[in-house]
Amino acid sequence: MVMSAAFEFDARYIKETTPNGDKYTFFCDLSGAVVHTTDPICAVGEEAALALAKRESRDYFNRCRQCGKWIGDTVYNIDEAKCVECAPFDMAPHYCTECGGPLKENAETCAGCGARVKYTILK
Ligand SMILES: [Zn+2]
Ligand SMILES: [Zn+2]
Repeated sequence: MVMSAAFEFDARYIKETTPNGDKYTFFCDLSGAVVHTTDPICAVGEEAALALAKRESRDYFNRCRQCGKWIGDTVYNIDEAKCVECAPFDMAPHYCTECGGPLKENAETCAGCGARVKYTILK
């Protein structure tokens, strides 16, 4: 398998040690929201465990083809294959970029977490 270094999955993550192995939680580069947490991974060596965690978590991410950020679905403009910062939605978002919860139509703040809705209708 040939993989360009520019496409290496390098989203921010934290590691949590459990009795059954290490769990990895990966975050969206743009919103900072949790995108995926792995089950505890049992592997020989930390590098191997991280590689497995990345391989699993990569599927839950999208990559902006403009800025290269690794992002979750809620801040991914699938029509443009870009993040909403590079290609803002031309309509109100349906999901909160912070907590991923559903938004009421044209809401200014998220009813779930209180975050200000970042991407609203373009003028
Ligand atoms: Zn981008
Ligand atoms: Zn929210």
